[in-house]
Amino acid sequence: MKEIKYCIKLQNLEMSVHCLPGVGLDSNIYVVTGNDPFIVDTGTGIHIRQVIDQISRVISLEKVGRIVLTHRHYDHIGGARFLMKELGAKVYIHDLDAPPLREGDGWATLSELGGIKTEPIDVKSIREGDVFSSGDHEFRVYHTPGHTAGSIVLFDDMTGSLICGDTVFVGSVGRWDLPSGNYDELVKSLHRLLSLDAVNLYPGHGPFSLGDAKHQILNALRCLGEV
Ligand SMILES: [Zn+2]
Ligand SMILES: [Zn+2]
Repeated sequence: MKEIKYCIKLQNLEMSVHCLPGVGLDSNIYVVTGNDPFIVDTGTGIHIRQVIDQISRVISLEKVGRIVLTHRHYDHIGGARFLMKELGAKVYIHDLDAPPLREGDGWATLSELGGIKTEPIDVKSIREGDVFSSGDHEFRVYHTPGHTAGSIVLFDDMTGSLICGDTVFVGSVGRWDLPSGNYDELVKSLHRLLSLDAVNLYPGHGPFSLGDAKHQILNALRCLGEV
């Protein structure tokens, strides 16, 4: 019985979350499909024309009304300004990571490290418990500070799909030593993610993992010597 449930989860997942692997420094970009599709993270913006082309192969661009950012870093938010204009979409980010984008703070977004300005973006704040529905699936926002103060993950408990930004990766764990990062908060957030019934892990960089999200989260805690 358990196995049947598991297969259904995987089938649903493949239909709802589509990964555009990050090129160069770009983060991965996720397209959550359905009647009301949305995009998670945007890369640096360097390859934005390619990104738009790739998105258009997955969904109709005119259907995309929302772009959700997992956190403030430039490798995730750099393409947001162009993409929001091109798609006519609204951009959402957690309350605590919104100010650097509104103010164009290139040190907080880390763009200045590459000599790139962060142009101010009009973003909407999101918080713990907010829900992004694609029509087919509902992804709930969990505030998971540690990598940055306003890092979030999106979790769909129907499919067990966890879009987790830079908090945890397949085979490793997010950094906590950048501005607004915090080790204790990261550990706490990882324990929280472990308590979710996650099946599939969609990180901000590198490969995604179908079927062993819990194992990956546990592995991240092991990397830190916290289990
Ligand atoms: Zn990143
Ligand atoms: Zn990051």
